[in-house]
Amino acid sequence: MIARVTLELALRKEFDYLVPPELLGLVEVGSRVQVPFGPRKVLGCVTAIAEESDRTRLKSILKVIGVQSLVTPKVLKLARWIADYYCCAPETALKSVLPEAVRKEHAGWRQQLFVRALSFPGELPKLSKRQRELWNILEERREMPLQELLELADTTTATLRRLEEKGLVALSPKVSERDPYALEQILPTQPLTLNPAQAAALKRIIEAMDGRKAEGRMLNAETALAGSSTSAFSIRPSTFLLHGVTGSGKTEIYLQAIAHALERGQGAIVLVPEISLTPQTVERFKARFSSGPLQTLVAVLHSHLSAGERHDEWHKIRQGRARIAIGARSAIFAPVDPLGLIIVDEEHEHTYKQEEAPRYHARDVAIMRGHMEGATVVLGSATPSLESYYNCRNGKYALLDLPERVDNQKMPYVRIVDMRQVARKGQGIPIFSPQLKEAIAQRLERGEQTILFLNRRGYSSSLQCPLCGFVAQCPDCSVALTYHRPEQKLRCHICGHVEPVPAVCPDPKCRNPKIRYAGLGTQKVEETLAKLFPDARVVRMDSDALKRKEDYRRILGDFRTGKTDILIGTQMIAKGLHFPNVTLVGIIYADLALHQPDFRAGERTFQLLTQVSGRAGRGDIEGEVFVQAFTPFHPAIQFARRHDFTGFYEQELEFREQLRYPPFSRVALLTLKGRNEDKVKFSAEHLGRELEKRLGLSPEFGASREASRSNESSSGSRLRGDQAAPAAQARGRPPHRAQETILAGPAPAPLLRAETFYRYQIMLRTAHMTALSRELAKIIQSLVLPEDVTLTVDIDPVDLA
Ligand code: ADP
Ligand code: ZN
Repeated sequence: MIARVTLELALRKEFDYLVPPELLGLVEVGSRVQVPFGPRKVLGCVTAIAEESDRTRLKSILKVIGVQSLVTPKVLKLARWIADYYCCAPETALKSVLPEAVRKEHAGWRQQLFVRALSFPGELPKLSKRQRELWNILEERREMPLQELLELADTTTATLRRLEEKGLVALSPKVSERDPYALEQILPTQPLTLNPAQAAALKRIIEAMDGRKAEGRMLNAETALAGSSTSAFSIRPSTFLLHGVTGSGKTEIYLQAIAHALERGQGAIVLVPEISLTPQTVERFKARFSSGPLQTLVAVLHSHLSAGERHDEWHKIRQGRARIAIGARSAIFAPVDPLGLIIVDEEHEHTYKQEEAPRYHARDVAIMRGHMEGATVVLGSATPSLESYYNCRNGKYALLDLPERVDNQKMPYVRIVDMRQVARKGQGIPIFSPQLKEAIAQRLERGEQTILFLNRRGYSSSLQCPLCGFVAQCPDCSVALTYHRPEQKLRCHICGHVEPVPAVCPDPKCRNPKIRYAGLGTQKVEETLAKLFPDARVVRMDSDALKRKEDYRRILGDFRTGKTDILIGTQMIAKGLHFPNVTLVGIIYADLALHQPDFRAGERTFQLLTQVSGRAGRGDIEGEVFVQAFTPFHPAIQFARRHDFTGFYEQELEFREQLRYPPFSRVALLTLKGRNEDKVKFSAEHLGRELEKRLGLSPEFGASREASRSNESSSGSRLRGDQAAPAAQARGRPPHRAQETILAGPAPAPLLRAETFYRYQIMLRTAHMTALSRELAKIIQSLVLPEDVTLTVDIDPVDLA
């Protein structure tokens, strides 16, 4: 018997090995194995079993790791799809489907080496400093896992062996299970009686679950995900988009749909963005399924767990003791089997996209996995992505609407404040318009709470000399440094570079002592507020204020219990937090997000405004939202004001269609990176020519080649409606040509320099990403780049900077 093995070296290749007689029956698809590779022994994963090989003189597998294969054939198939579609090496894709903690051999099979302190009669023998340190820890803890001990004492096994020789400690293997939630008391909950909208939605989901059987075949990406409207996909949708504001009862629907999956003998995966993966969220799921006939463990997978905890949570699922897996992005690979339901909450969240290889989008992987395993998929959001909305419109997904909050709360009243007028009347640009100031004063008087939102941390965005125009820049990134007042430091928000604030303008010809701060950040808002309302209790929440893990809980706890009056924050506070006493939300500069060089800028602004306004009026009192903006009539702002989801999406779709942006195409973003700008630029041009040649985008045919990304940036940042069509034509491209691939660039990335690397980009847009990815993989393989220039391929990028 032959086993085909991929190795954990990104080689884009598989190797055949003999299965030796003693391992027969132990090696199966998905097994982790150790094999000889050259002079080394390396770990790999069996991807196929074959009778024979075209290679001769095969080496044998050395050993099988673990008694149960780790990757199920189903998840393996998913990994293959990821490699194909996201244009990465299969090894890279495989790595992401298994948590590091599970992959590592030493993490073991629920058995770990434990070190135990032995009782020692009489005087301790003489110990070296390191041995003494190790002993001190162990003496206090009595017994602990070897790995943990070594990490804690920051030493090696050699030190420990000395102690063992001296008869102070003993090592023995032991099964341990770590439960990160072991200390919590969870009260069981019963299903609630659904309101009519909830009941209708749940009924559709249950019908789909009951009507499905595993299709067991691989659909291509265009069919399964967004994209072509020419799909042959005709069975009724088994992907749902559950559209409902926070508090409309989505989670209750998830819980009852999961219960149905369990009744059918199936399990479920629940994806939530990392930031929403709070103990409260997890508790709601555990509480429902902690007892009763459907009782099961709920496994939690996220990045804050220790390696050991992650290992155990994963194995609970693999062994079928936990039938529900809840987690962030990578939980989509949880080995739940059979899988009946996948939930993707806040499906529009960009954190579902992994920003390193494999650059997969967990929502899209969820849909693909659903197709492969016959599982029903429910995407939930108050502000769905345009892609998902479009898929509902063209019949791929079914839209389920929850138009009202469960408690019948009205949507808050949204007022737009035209900051241009405010600026004209006063001197310069204020942080608070008189209207917002007044509203805050009112709330303070009435003892109600306020949330102020600004999507920029720090004090001022930049340090500028009013005489010579000097702006303090990061030496390694092409961005201005941000002023942080408490520490009197300038900080780069890209790479973290820190430097002291200069006392005078650093330009030797200027030396102006009155160097000033331009722009605005959350710290500045906090300080201004303190001057305006000296008695108000103000607290700020952004990543600077959150130095420790507990800070998040503490700040929110204080706000919830009314210890603070005003909460200032960045997007961190935009999501899913429930504060009944908040009746006012102020958005300081709503247009900040609009001016990003990204075609999704409008969509993001709309989503952000909608989410942030959702924070107001959650109790008995109706809420009020003030949106301060310099472009008050921008559609993203106006539609958000009217809570008009459909209106915004329809007109945004029109804009995307005219410029052939997603969802009317799929994007591949190729970024070349290096320290020498000329080399990067040259390589980008070389790659551009290769692509033209190999993808058949010859210049004469290539009406489809656009001159440069900078054009696109401006169209992205706001050419819409009837302005867009001539712009597209001016670039010589007919707006509607179904089959073609459009190449734009190479051009400097919007953020040209980051962490000392220069970056150039090429953007491809196509209706057929699977085909393009395959082509790209070939082109990349044969591409010769200078040694110090690297290429990354990002399929369906969410961040274009
Ligand atoms: P979402 O997930 O959309 O934010 P939730 O499911 O969390 O909404 O519901 C919001 C609140 O309303 C929760 O406290 C939940 O327990 C409650 N709730 C949900 N559905 C019902 C219902 N049918 N009857 C009574 N309360 C409900
Ligand atoms: Zn920097």
